[in-house]
This record gives sequence, structure tokens and C-alpha cells, in this order.
Amino acid sequence: GWEPDDKHNMAVERTLSIIKPDGVEKNKIGNILARFESAGLRIAALKMAHLSRAEAEGFYYVHKARPFFGELTEFMSRGPVVISVLEGADAVAKNRELMGATDPAKAAPGTIRKDLATSVGENTVHGSDSAENAAWEIAYFFAGSELT
Ligand code: GDP
Ligand code: MG
Repeated sequence: GWEPDDKHNMAVERTLSIIKPDGVEKNKIGNILARFESAGLRIAALKMAHLSRAEAEGFYYVHKARPFFGELTEFMSRGPVVISVLEGADAVAKNRELMGATDPAKAAPGTIRKDLATSVGENTVHGSDSAENAAWEIAYFFAGSELT
């Protein structure tokens, strides 16, 4: 029978998702949001925004020292994005599973990045990598009153 344990506690979590500029440019907003909903994730907050370079740099601050930081923040600020908070059991891991590997060429079949992305730089979606980082990322884009 089912028993809770530390590895599979199925905690109800929230995670931050961004449909990156390439996904919006390709008209894939509905396609991607439908994947989240079909997987049982609830959209708890949603907005469209065109990030400034400074906003993109602030969001990706942890990658500041990486060689691709300039390319990444230029890309993330080149056009509108769709930012959402996804809620559900194991939302962080579930979203990462739906996204696929960072490099679309290495992403599993049926994942967003395998199906829609073109390169490691333009890989269509962002997703938080831990519940702790999700809390910081959600607060970066949403006021408490915008979460439902
Ligand atoms: P993620 O968590 O799967 O999104 O991957 P990371 O946290 O490691 O990297 C953040 C983002 O930086 C990725 O989604 C890519 O958009 C970008 N990125 C990572 N590696 C590279 C790279 O080698 N070149 C470029 N241009 N972008 C990269
Ligand atoms: Mg990451």
C-alpha cells in the first residue's frame, strides 16, 4: 500500500515557470500551459511581461559568473515571456520532468524541450530546481496578492 516517506512525500508545492521568448515567438503559450494542466499542475498565478536586461540579470544572478550569462540575459530580455506559478504534488520535480534536459538534444521524447526547443541557449522554458529556489523566484515576480 501507499506510505509516505522522505523521498516520495508528494508534498503540495509551488514552482516558478517561465515560457522564454523563443516559446512565445513560436506561438507555443497554449501548448505549454496545456501540458502543465494535463499533468495535474494548477496554474496559481500567471502574467506576461517583457523583462528588462536588468530584471533578467537579477533573476539569473546565480549564473552571473558563467560564460553564457551575457547571452542568456540578452535572450531573456529580447521579447515577452509568460511567467506562471504552478502548484501541485511534487510540482518542482514534475515541472522539471515535463521540461526535459537543459540541452534539447539530450531531452527525453515528449518533453517540452525535445518537442519545441532548438538549442541549449534557446530552450523554451525555465523551471525552478528546488522548492527553496522556487520561493525566491516566485517572490521575484509576484506579490503575495497575485497568488491564488
Ligand atoms: P536549467 O535549469 O535546465 O534551465 O539549466 P541551468 O540552470 O543550468 O541554466 C540556466 C539557463 O542558462 C538554461 O536554461 C539555458 O537557457 C542557459 N544555458 C545553460 N547552459 C548554456 C550554454 O552553454 N550556453 C548558453 N547560451 N546558454 C546556456
Ligand atoms: Mg536552472
